[in-house]
Amino acid sequence: VTAIRRHFVSGGGLLARRKVTRAVDDVSFGIAAGETLGLVGESGSGKSTLGRVIVGLLAATSGQVAIAGQAVGGARGGARRALWRRVQMVFQDPYSSLNPRLTVRDTLAEPLRNFGIARGADADRRIREALDACGLPASAMTRHPREFSGGQRQRIGIARALIVRPDFIVADEPVSALDVSIQAQIINLLQDLKAAFGLTYLFIAHDLAVVRHVSDRVAVMYRGKLVETASAEMLYARPAHPYTQLLLRSVPMPDPRAEAERRKRTAASEIAHPQATAGGCPFHARCPKARFPLCGEQAPPLAAHASGHRVACHFPG
Ligand code: SF4
Ligand code: MG
Repeated sequence: VTAIRRHFVSGGGLLARRKVTRAVDDVSFGIAAGETLGLVGESGSGKSTLGRVIVGLLAATSGQVAIAGQAVGGARGGARRALWRRVQMVFQDPYSSLNPRLTVRDTLAEPLRNFGIARGADADRRIREALDACGLPASAMTRHPREFSGGQRQRIGIARALIVRPDFIVADEPVSALDVSIQAQIINLLQDLKAAFGLTYLFIAHDLAVVRHVSDRVAVMYRGKLVETASAEMLYARPAHPYTQLLLRSVPMPDPRAEAERRKRTAASEIAHPQATAGGCPFHARCPKARFPLCGEQAPPLAAHASGHRVACHFPG
């Protein structure tokens, strides 16, 4: 992913001023084959938009996505389709992401048909295999989404992504809409499938706790920008960006006294800084470490902090 920007323009009528939202603002990173990159940020940080750009559901305003060294933007027709087949998405909401009128068979047959992979009996065989890999019985084929629980629906959504045999899956908060008791099952399923099919993941989540045990590396996003990337080990042990440090402190802690202390600290950091300006570091208004005028005037670039560890902060560590 190289220098991806995705802007949304709203308004611009006779009376309304045009407003440009930079949902994704100059984001670059790579994911090695077989790796899981956890992408974390609060809601509205641009992580779902970035995920959709990567799988081709949204066009980038500018920038480039390449798969195995091949730029997707340059490919046309069949070559482009072959590239997109390798990249699939699992959506956050297993209720709205499945068409309620389609049976499970039709839901899973659609990508097979769209990518010209299989039809008829061959398609049915592949559908049974994908359901089985996702822990669903073959009898699910003739049923509709409403007949399944949330966890089972997410299994159907995962089977739909898996059935075209992708190399890479963007999982956009795949457990956020599920009961806590079901979340671990779905995460374990994703881990099992990764091992069985040699998959690579971009695993999007809004808190660091969810991606901790599945990620090899973690990228933290804030207001459309990457603010920190590091190995999971490094990021949890020595977070260098004040926002990441704040996110780690927001992970609920069982000790009630520690929890009360955490709330106090988090609340304090959410009061906008009196010296806040419109420019500068995107985090400066909330940053407990901001120093003025520098942080209010200059946006820090994402720069090497330690080996394999990049941070966008004037005062990392
Ligand atoms: Fe905080 Fe300044 Fe670092 Fe931004 S650059 S995160 S405001 S210390
Ligand atoms: Mg989202």
